[in-house]
Amino acid sequence: MRANKLIDNLYSNCNLKSHRCGKFTFNCHFHLCVSPCDANAISALCPVEAFILLYGLSYFSSDLIPPGVCNILNPSTIYANNEVDLDKVDIYGFDYDYTLALYSSALDRMIYDKAREFLVKHYKYPEGISKYDYIPSFAARGLHYDIQKGLLMKIDAFHYIQLGTVYRGLKPVPDEEVLELYGGTHHVPLQEVSGFYGKGPVMKQFMDVFSIPEMTLLAAANDYFNSNGIEYDPGHLFKDVSVSWIQSKFTLYSHFLPTEKYIIRGDETYAVLHRLVSQGKKLFLITNSPFSFVDKGMKYMVGKEWRDFFDVVIVEADKPHFFNNCGKPFRRLDGNGDLQWDKIRSLDKGQIYKQGNLFDFLRLTGWRGSKVLYFGDHLYSDLADLMLRHGWRTAAIVPELEMETRVVNTEQYAQSLTWLQALTGLLERMQMHRDLESKEVLQDWLKEREEAVTKNLFNPHFGSIFRTCHNPTFFSRRLCRFSDLYMASLSCLLNYDLSYTFYPRRTPLQHEAPLWMDQLCTGCMKTPFLEEMAHIR
Ligand SMILES: [Mg+2]
Repeated sequence: MRANKLIDNLYSNCNLKSHRCGKFTFNCHFHLCVSPCDANAISALCPVEAFILLYGLSYFSSDLIPPGVCNILNPSTIYANNEVDLDKVDIYGFDYDYTLALYSSALDRMIYDKAREFLVKHYKYPEGISKYDYIPSFAARGLHYDIQKGLLMKIDAFHYIQLGTVYRGLKPVPDEEVLELYGGTHHVPLQEVSGFYGKGPVMKQFMDVFSIPEMTLLAAANDYFNSNGIEYDPGHLFKDVSVSWIQSKFTLYSHFLPTEKYIIRGDETYAVLHRLVSQGKKLFLITNSPFSFVDKGMKYMVGKEWRDFFDVVIVEADKPHFFNNCGKPFRRLDGNGDLQWDKIRSLDKGQIYKQGNLFDFLRLTGWRGSKVLYFGDHLYSDLADLMLRHGWRTAAIVPELEMETRVVNTEQYAQSLTWLQALTGLLERMQMHRDLESKEVLQDWLKEREEAVTKNLFNPHFGSIFRTCHNPTFFSRRLCRFSDLYMASLSCLLNYDLSYTFYPRRTPLQHEAPLWMDQLCTGCMKTPFLEEMAHIR
């Protein structure tokens, strides 16, 4: 009879126990309590029926969730990959876009519209592409793009494409076709998937928050060509969209007017800078954006005297080359933003510098090692070199954390994830049963495990930026590698005293027993807002 052996095994190996409270517990990888009448009902069933009842445990996965686990993550938490003692940090450095300045999706739409216009008017792409409006929920940061095949996809930490997340234009590519396109595997070799800065010869990883509209335009143009049966070279399209996107950013730099429609949380940026300076910290800014653009935004957020907060201001720095190429000297800009020709022998407060390089910066300031903490949103351009080559402490701004935390706090997510883990535990225990009936059931479980994913709770096309079905994403692995700390926005700093030490949670390695239960509160309750900052929120 189907699944007899599995049922027998559940009863004999999973320690069905009667408790004095009148409940029965199956001790597998999880604990399930059933009432006495449920237990009687199960024992009265034939094994197959009992098994199906047990198999249907997903309906009761809410019973597996400890009380109070939903809605406990605080979206303003700072998370630690590495221990950081703020007391030892004397100097705070910042990127500008998506670090000091956070933007709304209205800015993404503006960049998309301008880039689409450039693609059609300058490169003479078909007018039909103009009919594709911006889709704010389509793309997600950290995705890879296969330049020659014209495919957008999510790749995990082990370089495997997550099936179900491959898009040609705006349409998903069937799993069988993906396997066929990649030679019978969905693994992409390191040399193809990524160079040091995420630009492999075959794939590009989009790590910039600004690149969401670029990915969306690529998808729209690919979709237009594919839907209309027009032959084209995806390599040319990739280059042309890339240039159109850069042109769109140039337009943004010259015409952008900072308003509440585009810039969010400006008050909190002011509060962070004011608090750091008032506690004796030194601040500096290194951005790739031009001075006029930064000046307008900072005046809007912080006020006319924003430069008083900073000891050094560097614009158009050309990161990541700023961090690893010592060829470019600093140049000074005058009050009108015009380039000066004098030799730079010191980096002075109140001055604006352009270009330069980190080696001169370190020589002129002496700001070395772990007394410097640098904040940026781009894992490659802002943080990778600093972490791997120069020994500054790094903090990643990940605005997506806010939305993802909201999802993780829902009961639906908790139930889906708990059931996924329970199912995985059952599969691990029961996989040795090789009789035909058991194998059929195991196949059903495997199928359900693939379907019982939480992907749709996040971005409906690509899921969470941090996880594929069962693994961390490529983005996640890089985030852990290149950042000591990560947080949704700079304003999270307002929740912590400046002598606070961030401790990473000690999660057990695969070969270690989960013997400790410390730090359960990380992200949950240990970050009461400082009273003096309460008015900001
Ligand atoms: Mg940035």
